[in-house]
Amino acid sequence: MSAESENHSQLKNLQEEIRKGLSELDALEHKVISQKKYLHALRGELWDLCDHQWRRDYSCAFDDLCKHYCMVCGLWRDRSLYGGGR
Ligand SMILES: [Zn+2]
Repeated sequence: MSAESENHSQLKNLQEEIRKGLSELDALEHKVISQKKYLHALRGELWDLCDHQWRRDYSCAFDDLCKHYCMVCGLWRDRSLYGGGR
């Protein structure tokens, strides 16, 4: 094989590796998104199910919306943060 055609085949190999890598990345990104949606919905279900006992979180800034969290399920008092349900 001449040096030139060796270079060419190396180039093709790298392009192929990159193409494969990108398509794997796509699949992973898709998985991350769907996993987040899944957890979001589960937290919504948990929120609706729990008999919450609110506790003030003193580490939050004074005017933060998320001033209270539940001692039982650990979620914030704002239902709109979570998916699914009502
Ligand atoms: Zn709760």
